[in-house]
Amino acid sequence: MRIIPLSLIGAALLLFPSPPAAAQPEPLTTAERSGFRATSTHAEVLAFIGQLQRSSPLVRVETIAVTAEGREVPMLIIGAPVPASPRALRGDDRAVVYFQANIHAGEVEGKEALLMLAREILAGRTRNYLDRLVILITPDFNPDGNERISPANRTNQNGPDEGVGIRYNGQNLDLNRDGMKLESPEVSGLVARVLNRWDPVFFFDSHTHNGSYHAEPVTWTWGLNPNGDAAIFTYLADRVMPEVNRRMDTEYGTPCIPHGDFLDARDPARGWVPLGPEPRYLSNYVGLRNRLAVLNENYPYVDFESRVRGCFNLCLCFLDHLRENRDEIVDLVAAADERSMKRGLAPGAGDVFVVTTGREAISERITIAAYEMEEVEAGGRTRLRSTDRIRVVEDIPYFARYTPERTIPFPAAYLIPIPDEGVLARLRAHGITVERLLEPVTLEVEEFTVTALTPAARLNQGHYPNTIEGEYARVERDLPAGTLIVTTAQPLGALAAALLEPESDDGLAYWNCFDRYLARQWGGGPMAYPVYRLIRPVPLPTRIIGP
Ligand SMILES: [Zn+2]
Repeated sequence: MRIIPLSLIGAALLLFPSPPAAAQPEPLTTAERSGFRATSTHAEVLAFIGQLQRSSPLVRVETIAVTAEGREVPMLIIGAPVPASPRALRGDDRAVVYFQANIHAGEVEGKEALLMLAREILAGRTRNYLDRLVILITPDFNPDGNERISPANRTNQNGPDEGVGIRYNGQNLDLNRDGMKLESPEVSGLVARVLNRWDPVFFFDSHTHNGSYHAEPVTWTWGLNPNGDAAIFTYLADRVMPEVNRRMDTEYGTPCIPHGDFLDARDPARGWVPLGPEPRYLSNYVGLRNRLAVLNENYPYVDFESRVRGCFNLCLCFLDHLRENRDEIVDLVAAADERSMKRGLAPGAGDVFVVTTGREAISERITIAAYEMEEVEAGGRTRLRSTDRIRVVEDIPYFARYTPERTIPFPAAYLIPIPDEGVLARLRAHGITVERLLEPVTLEVEEFTVTALTPAARLNQGHYPNTIEGEYARVERDLPAGTLIVTTAQPLGALAAALLEPESDDGLAYWNCFDRYLARQWGGGPMAYPVYRLIRPVPLPTRIIGP
């Protein structure tokens, strides 16, 4: 039983002058009540949260988004004392950490695990985390997808038998592709209400994987985009990964490996590969914002209860690490923000934006208890099928370091002379500081001449995303008053570059935000990209837009 300091009990009594009704029964999750045959509906999630609120003064609930179909996405704030808002944490040395689940509402064990996690922390049955951490928990990030629970969804997955929701939200969008374009209320709410407002040092996003066959029920990886801060990447890859995975095994009895798939299922020794580095994936997006990000992918072919308990244990394991290393982690992200500021003030020869990536192994080698595969003939084709024989593949490379392949110099600022309120709104939605030029100026800038503009052949998330080729050249340009100026001397400088570089594989140009400026009607060659760059900072009369 955790002992609550008297001062905190005093604070709790002040908040609740008449104590809450005694002996409220502790809630059980739908998974627990059903013997792990079912997962919670959104109404059951809300009822569970309500019960937690009636049994503990250490939790508050905030709505971080309202979905396209009108459902509220609740986030629990757990603290001792529980802060009313981020403002209340000024001068408080607790670190804020964030966990979310059910972004793909067919992948449901994280939702059940996070509900259990909140209950166990509030009941004092875990190690004490609340002396050093404020814990934010969003158990059901995609309630619209969750509302479509059916046994017909994700039938490859081993339970729950009574069915799961679907991958998409009420707009038919995949929320784990919305990190950069911010077209969904859920991800926009995450950025506005959680990342920009509470600024958690740690982000955890829970999924269920489909892929390679192995015995470990739990896998995870981290922010992989090479334009993110290298020190944070190194800390996660070299320090946290081995430490957490060893601890999962020794303290929590849960085998755990990095997330990925075999490079070659016929030859597992060749190595293990994670998802790509694009920041449309929220874990990569948060990494690009200089914060520790974790993508949790559980193994779909173990039973539902093992997945729930495995995910629950992984959360505890990260909380252990975050509590024990709080000061180091707070310093690490603050130093990353400062490096970003300094780089933007005086970009040097070594400062680059990575346009295309290669792939290398991280220094730590990994071991996986893989199922042996066998060839079967089906429909005239040879396919691979998992057997039930385990063959441990030892000491193999993990190709989780996306390396710079082609780079361009990192600029001091981007200048946007077009009067496009949509572009402005999107930059500001990310939390990027944008300024407006107060009087016309003539400057030597870098202009990007587009030589090829190729929309994708297939629709993706409601878009035909662009691939843009071309090159920068120095030119003199007249910039009107009102030109938008985004300096990279800000903590989100790398994110600003990833949004505004024309060749970025996940930027605003890729997602069609500049289409109308790139070609007029009746064809004709593509026009110059409507965003200029300044390689060195130039003092200019400007005003920051907005509050
Ligand atoms: Zn997923």
